[in-house]
Amino acid sequence: MAGQKTAILSVYDKTGLLDLAKGLHDKGVRILASGGTAKMIREANFPVEDVSAITKAPEMLGGRVKTLHPAVHGGILARNLDSDSKDLAENSIDKIDFVVCNLYPFSETVAKINVTIPEAVEEIDIGGVTLLRAAAKNHSRVTIISDPKDYHDFLAELEKDGEVSEKNRQKYALKAFEQTAEYDTAISDFFRKKYAGEGEGAQQLALRYGANPHQKPATVFMKDSPLPFKVLCGAPGYINLLDALNAWPLVKELSKALDHPAAASFKHVSPAGAAIGVNLSEVERKVYMVDDIEGIESSRLAQAYARARGADRMSSFGDMIALSDEVDVPTAKIISREVSDGVIAPSYTPEALEILRKKKGGKYLVLQMDPEYEPAMEETRSVYGINLRQHRNDAKITPKETFNTVITPKNSGALPESALRDLTVATIALKYTQSNSVCYALNGQVIGLGAGQQSRIHCTRLAGDKADNWWMRFHERTLNLKFKKATKRPSKSNAIDLLCSGLVPESGPEREDFESHFEEGNVPAPFTPEERKAWLEKLTGVAVSSDAFFPFIDNVFRTARSGVKYIAAPTGSQNDQPVFDTAEQLGITFVEQHIRLFHH
Ligand code: 5GP
Repeated sequence: MAGQKTAILSVYDKTGLLDLAKGLHDKGVRILASGGTAKMIREANFPVEDVSAITKAPEMLGGRVKTLHPAVHGGILARNLDSDSKDLAENSIDKIDFVVCNLYPFSETVAKINVTIPEAVEEIDIGGVTLLRAAAKNHSRVTIISDPKDYHDFLAELEKDGEVSEKNRQKYALKAFEQTAEYDTAISDFFRKKYAGEGEGAQQLALRYGANPHQKPATVFMKDSPLPFKVLCGAPGYINLLDALNAWPLVKELSKALDHPAAASFKHVSPAGAAIGVNLSEVERKVYMVDDIEGIESSRLAQAYARARGADRMSSFGDMIALSDEVDVPTAKIISREVSDGVIAPSYTPEALEILRKKKGGKYLVLQMDPEYEPAMEETRSVYGINLRQHRNDAKITPKETFNTVITPKNSGALPESALRDLTVATIALKYTQSNSVCYALNGQVIGLGAGQQSRIHCTRLAGDKADNWWMRFHERTLNLKFKKATKRPSKSNAIDLLCSGLVPESGPEREDFESHFEEGNVPAPFTPEERKAWLEKLTGVAVSSDAFFPFIDNVFRTARSGVKYIAAPTGSQNDQPVFDTAEQLGITFVEQHIRLFHH
């Protein structure tokens, strides 16, 4: 029939098929269909031709080849060009106007327990994907309907206008492209598990569970390359990896920026501490509980981890550690006696690895990271089923370039090396800290970090209180506490924390518990306000960085109470000027740090 339109129908899900066939027939459309689809239409007494009517070839290979034929794909892909029309005429092929197709249920099949590879292979739709893709490619002329939910609107439009509008052809084509992409993802997910889930070059790893034990299954995977880390010991959890994959770039950047080995101690996707390997004083070794570690004086990496772990021992309990350099014996020894979940590093000496493999009854997580790995520039995540994509935060923080805009005091010279170093440590730490975040640093290490606070002043206070608490640990009364021999390291840290934060219990069971850790007659008295004030006044030269501007001057006031001499922060607040003036008034050098560093 001249001017008659042609449709090819090939659907696995036959929902609404008969209504569709009736509607097409009513509009005088010629219907061609693959085996099962044709059968159902024919049995309902609607006129239908088998695809073989145009291909002159039977379906073969048990259904593996049904619609794969130039008579079908030539008819779909032909444009309204003379050359295409000539090709079709020479081969006696008619143009196809509508394609209706949905695919074999690959995802449903592979979701079945114990599905075999041959079973899955048979569910890989070839011709259907080709129909969808060909028709979607040629959507300037052809309409592709891939979802039974669209039959109604499609028929209604045909009824009303006799054709499908360009806008709707675009909409249907996009849907088909999304479907083939999703279909291919399901196939590659399945085969990744089967063929690249173990051993050398593994692209995926099953995790015990997600953020919580009831969130199963959980996996980590790479789409087009092996995972850039190897598991040398233990089995990673989902949060271990979130920590490790934030902590690793932190130490990599920090060590590169300051040309020193670097360490980070992470908990819940924020650093509890981060540091470079600056020589430890005798007092620092004592405060960080590493005074008996042999060889620490000659290991920069061990010094870096001692500082990272020592910054906030309470928060570091059960940490995920990142180390920028090959792990040596002194570093492994520090780790081996702390409560910790795992470590990521570029390599381990055989002796260090042996020490770590013995930890936690052989279950301690040891990851070896490929130091050459570079992530893709775009990062995508899905939240509540919705995808978000962004350019990754590849801002570079360097002591020379990041902190050279000194706002106050005016005409000041270059910042001292130690200030540049500490501002770099604080700022790189913030780049990998959940926002809002504010970090206090000294001696090449974090001394107080406030993470994940909705209000900046709360963050500045939290970080400042941690810095104060850290400094109180250096008070001679804290240094000379007389613990009982049996008191364990975590209990010591807890008792020290109560003392240093001014929370020593007065009475009751909590008091009894506090006292139980100390030698008879040597329970420490709380610090008096005078003692505390006098000691805190001795804290000086501290550097502070903020991941975004200070909206009010209260932040500057708070930093000044904890010996802060340098602040680096982005500007842009309506209150910038009062913030600068307050810094000036308090003798604090204010450096504009141009890059906002929110992290989530
Ligand atoms: P029917 O039930 O009509 O026999 O088959 C419909 C299914 O076959 C649809 O899901 C369609 O995607 C798929 N299909 C269409 N052509 C081919 C082909 O040439 N090879 C394969 N393997 N599947 C096809």
